[in-house]
Formats: sequence, C-alpha cells, structure tokens
Amino acid sequence: MKIPEIHIPIVEIPIEKNVKLFIKREDLIHPQISGNKYWKIFYNLNYYLESSPEKPIIITFGGAYSNHISAVSAVGNIFSIQTLGIIRGEELEKKWIDNPTLVTAKRNGMNFRFVTRDDYRNKQKMTELLQIEFPDALIIPEGGTNAKAVEGVKMMLNNDTKDFDYLCTAVGTGGTIAGISHFCEGNQKVIGFKVVEDTSLENRISELTSKRNYHLTDAALGGYGKINDDNVRFINDFKMKYDVPLEPVYTGKMMQKVFEMIDDNYFPAESKILCFHTGGLQGIEGANMLLEKQNRNLIR
Ligand SMILES: *Cc1c(COP(=O)(O)O)cnc(C)c1O
Repeated sequence: MKIPEIHIPIVEIPIEKNVKLFIKREDLIHPQISGNKYWKIFYNLNYYLESSPEKPIIITFGGAYSNHISAVSAVGNIFSIQTLGIIRGEELEKKWIDNPTLVTAKRNGMNFRFVTRDDYRNKQKMTELLQIEFPDALIIPEGGTNAKAVEGVKMMLNNDTKDFDYLCTAVGTGGTIAGISHFCEGNQKVIGFKVVEDTSLENRISELTSKRNYHLTDAALGGYGKINDDNVRFINDFKMKYDVPLEPVYTGKMMQKVFEMIDDNYFPAESKILCFHTGGLQGIEGANMLLEKQNRNLIR
C-alpha cells in the first residue's frame, strides 16, 4: 500500500509563558478532506479498494454539520465512488438545502437518508440492515472511528512530533486520541479535549489503544456541540494574533482550554506542548449562518 509523503508544518504559537506551544496544521492536508479525517479514512478506503468490490459504495453516518460527512463525500467525488450519508434528523429532509455542509456533500455526489434521532441512536441495527441492502458497501461508523482509522492516525506522528512532552487533540468519537495514544513515544503524555457528548467514549478509546498514557478533560465550554460567544471571540483573536484559523466545535474549544490550562500552571515549566489542528474549517460557514440568525457575533 502506498503511503503519500505529506509534510505537515508545525508552527509555534508565541505566547510568552514558561511553556512552549506549537500547533500541527493537519487542517492544511487537503482542501476538502481536512485534518484527522484524511488519515481516518485512508486505510479504510485502501483496504476496501483492494478487495475490488463489484458495486463500490461508501456509507457513513453523521449530523448536519459533520466534518466526517463532508470528508467522505469528497473522497467519493475524487475516487468516483458512490456515497450515501445517513443523516441525523428527519426534519432535514425538507431543509438540507439551507445547510452548507450538506449542500457541498450533495455537490460531491453524496445521496442522503434522513433518519430520526431514535433510529440514529440505533446505528448498530441500521448498519446490519444497510449491509444486507448493499452487500458490497464499505460502511464506516460515525466520525470514521474504527480500528483501521486508528491505524491511519499513526501518520499524524513522525520525527517532528517526537520531542514534545504533551500531545493535545480535540475528542469527538475518540479514534484520533486512541491513535495518538497508541503510536506516540513512551514518555509523551496525551490530553484529549472532550467537546461532544458520548457516553461510550471512554470504553471505546480504551479498546482502541493499548496504552494508558492519556487524560481526558472536558472542553464543552458552555455546552457540547454548542457555539459559545466567548469562544467565538477567542477564535477571532487567535486568528488575528497568530494567523491560524480555528472553528467553534473542536479546535477552537481545545485551544481556549489549553490557554486556560497554561494560565493555571497545569503544565510544568519548560514543557513543550503540541496541539493537533484537526481541521473542520468547513463548519465555519454553517456556524456563521446559525450565529447570524441569532444576531450573535460571527467568526471572521
Ligand atoms: C472529527 C473531528 C475531531 C474528533 O476526532 P475523533 O477521532 O472523532 O475523536 C476533532 N477535530 C475535528 C476538527 C474533527 O472534525
């Protein structure tokens, strides 16, 4: 299997504190398949294509603003593979056209099935039925997290990441932190910033990594999946000062929380901290539409 040579820059965020802070710009990896989603899909797709499916189709799950749905639709477009998105919320059937993530996915050729939140919760059952309906399908779970995804996350680590004391990532379904934990150096500590509600999270992570070198901290900042005005200010400031765009669901919340932890002296003096910019910038447009409707400050 060919592994692309992609060099991802690590940039310093000059904060003038007693620790050093860096950010790895995985968001730059691909304009549409950004950040961790690129590597999470990588092996899933490679193994699938090696099996030469007769009627290839990729099926996956997500919410209306999902970065994973967006990434899978782009993969389908690039590789000319049909894609089907199982989208949470039957009400979207009539108004997906107002949602920029879904409009882009559709333009990439993705078909949708909108399901109720109850059905969505029962994804295991749905997956079984879909595999019967589409015997050749590659069915990827929500957020793209499975064992092959975790294998792909290894690609986010390399010689450049070895010297850091702390590795930080936002946590949704847990595949990314599991991969970082499993493949990082023995002396490195991993911190996961939980930004979405998921009761099965801790079990899933512990099944996907053999190590216990990670720590999860809550980074909901006023509500899981909710956009926080204070965080929007932080994101706008951050971009102005450091020229790095963040988004309000994952990376913005992680970075704000990292700044708080630095101010609280969580990290020993002289620590070298590396935050993974896991991408997701496609979500800003949808977030701004919501903020505008509510007469709140926008992400610039
Ligand atoms: C999906 C996503 C995450 C979370 O990754 P998990 O592997 O699901 O924990 C973090 N940041 C961004 C921008 C994402 O799109």
